[in-house]
Amino acid sequence: MQKHIQGLHHVTSMATDALRNNAFFTKALGLRRIKKTVNFDVPEVYHLYYGDEVGTPGSVLTYFPFGQMPKGTRGTGEVGITEFAVPPSALTFWKERLAAFKVSDLTETDFLGERRLEFTGPDGDSFALVETDAAGRTAWTGTDVPSDVGILGFHGARFRLRDAAPTGELLSFMGYQQDETAGNVIRYRIDKGNGADTVDLEEVPDADHAHQGAGSVHHIAFAVADRAAQLEVRKALLDTGYQVTPVIDRDYFWAIYFRTPGGVLFEIATNEPGFDRDEDTAHLGSALKLPERYRPYRNQIEHKLPVLAD
Ligand code: ZN
Repeated sequence: MQKHIQGLHHVTSMATDALRNNAFFTKALGLRRIKKTVNFDVPEVYHLYYGDEVGTPGSVLTYFPFGQMPKGTRGTGEVGITEFAVPPSALTFWKERLAAFKVSDLTETDFLGERRLEFTGPDGDSFALVETDAAGRTAWTGTDVPSDVGILGFHGARFRLRDAAPTGELLSFMGYQQDETAGNVIRYRIDKGNGADTVDLEEVPDADHAHQGAGSVHHIAFAVADRAAQLEVRKALLDTGYQVTPVIDRDYFWAIYFRTPGGVLFEIATNEPGFDRDEDTAHLGSALKLPERYRPYRNQIEHKLPVLAD
């Protein structure tokens, strides 16, 4: 199992308004919308995917904009901060840009030797841009964000937990190594990962549990190369006592899910087949793509979905 996990694959969160969500991630942050599809269980709700040019695993942020939905309350047992990587010295650009887009709670800090700019997304989501080596990753160029400061994918994520130890043990089992510590935060890092390599565990024993809603991360997915690797990971998790779902076809990857001891929902997702399986790279994210079982209802579904800007 240790050799199979390659870092993060995607982060999936919940939102209210689809238009505002689309505008924020494509315009303010300059990500590419790489897929426009619908929720597998609620087809009148979009499933929007944002990432780099091709939706490289480790760059993909996905959203369910439910329309009306209570805001989540922050607390333990969840992904507290979703962190993007940007090139060294990019934060000067981002501070100005995000201020111009009237983004809330811009806070620049140093953490574990990295400069970071934290901010709040449109539904109260917590994000950070972290200056880090590009390590072979490139930003999407089809935006007005200059490519030398653009988002390179995820840096990692910070979990907020009452007790960090069981989740730390799980991450070690998954191949992560305990890295530096700062205050109540322990960093875990995967070697030879896809760039989205860190998971920080923030331990807050007295905090209340989070309640999921708009602005909350629903689950976080870790990348494996293919289905064979995924089956090995699944077996290793089952053998250790985790309740893992069967393999589920998510059209652009294969997924298994399991609840972790700290409360965060984990997914293991394959790098195959990828987002270009039903659209060529030049047109990713432009047409509405439907899971097979909803294709006979395309007209009704399209009628219920708000029209998004490209
Ligand atoms: Zn997922």
